[in-house]
Amino acid sequence: MNILIKNITLVPMDGKDEILSNMNILIENDKIKDIFKDDKDLKVDKIIDGKNKLLMPGLINSHTHTGMSIFRNYADDLPLHEWLNVAIWPLEAKLVAEDVYWASKLSIVEMIQSGTTTFSDMYFFMDETAKAVGETGIRSVLSRGIADENDPIKNAAKFDEVRKMHKDWHNAFDGRIKVMVGPHAPYTCGTDFLKECVSVAKELNTGIHIHLSETKKEVEDSFEIHELSPIEYAKEIGIFDVHTLAAHCVVLSQEDIEIIRDNNVYPVNNPGSNFKLASGFAKVDEILSKGIPMALGTDSSSSNNNLNMFEEINLAALVNKSVTEDATSVSAYQALEMATINGAKALNLQDEVGSIEVGKKADMILIDLNVSHLYPRNNLISALAYSAQGSDVDTVIIDGKIVMEDKKILNIDLNEIFSQVERIISEIPTR
Ligand SMILES: [Zn+2]
Repeated sequence: MNILIKNITLVPMDGKDEILSNMNILIENDKIKDIFKDDKDLKVDKIIDGKNKLLMPGLINSHTHTGMSIFRNYADDLPLHEWLNVAIWPLEAKLVAEDVYWASKLSIVEMIQSGTTTFSDMYFFMDETAKAVGETGIRSVLSRGIADENDPIKNAAKFDEVRKMHKDWHNAFDGRIKVMVGPHAPYTCGTDFLKECVSVAKELNTGIHIHLSETKKEVEDSFEIHELSPIEYAKEIGIFDVHTLAAHCVVLSQEDIEIIRDNNVYPVNNPGSNFKLASGFAKVDEILSKGIPMALGTDSSSSNNNLNMFEEINLAALVNKSVTEDATSVSAYQALEMATINGAKALNLQDEVGSIEVGKKADMILIDLNVSHLYPRNNLISALAYSAQGSDVDTVIIDGKIVMEDKKILNIDLNEIFSQVERIISEIPTR
């Protein structure tokens, strides 16, 4: 199918910090075929009028747990370790596979509606999330979250599950799914277990998705047990021998930042979750200034409590200015890069997505500019970071297919998803 988007304002996010007006984008099947200024006489299947709209790459949510949307607003205002141990983990123990299917679908719909076209997920019952990805048309990097059971037989079964997941879903749905190995964190996985994760990742020729240096407590405990920071420890035991997606990286020393810069590590900032769980402030400005392409994520909708990447872009740009007491810290364009091209690099998808360039996958969003908070149009890059809302997203195209048009999600029954998640959360306490 060919789609021509005519006469639109384009923010390509190709490193040039520019806004191009009156542009035309030609999509052929799953790819961007042409980007041009002057009108051409083309025969296409569909034309989208770009008047009063802005086109940019689809946003990339580099760290989330879509299966947790059931627990949105369920247990709030608790510290991370208490939140996990007392509130979340006992409930998660009662989940069945079908719950994760509906929770994933709810999360995916929320992400599409707010402009996310790719997400990186870590959870369990991942076959269900993979099915939801297939049905909804979104792009994803999925990791089966695993923790050390301290039992060789149970651990071996988990690694077999990871291998099976890779076999079943890696490159499924025209390559829309990639699979990584997902050890939860150094504080839930022993050294031998983590080393085994690395060898499975090498065997499958893929990367590792892990939580690293999220809280001060985690770092203090790591020094006590290993006499190393979580980053130093991860390097020492060989995790960074493979492409590593490191969620959070909140509490970092100068040495940690240098290790990240010099190794195969891609940190993900999750400001909403870090603030809500009082984990602190990642040194985003310092990390970016070292040339590290820090990405951006929402974390789960039970620690955020939504999956709206425009809110994260806004937080990343605003909060770092306050933390560094420097209003030039993390510019609007840098915050947008975190949510687009940096995310693509973090997920090892930079050749396919993250910017609007000829030859890349047609993953893009159209923003409705005809709303009061986006007038006057003095600087639309600033507008995207400081004024835009997730609900301004009008049309979403993923892999060359329109999945939302005029704010209507196509081919997904929203009411069915809403009633299923209400049923599940009412059932769980009595299971
Ligand atoms: Zn997380």
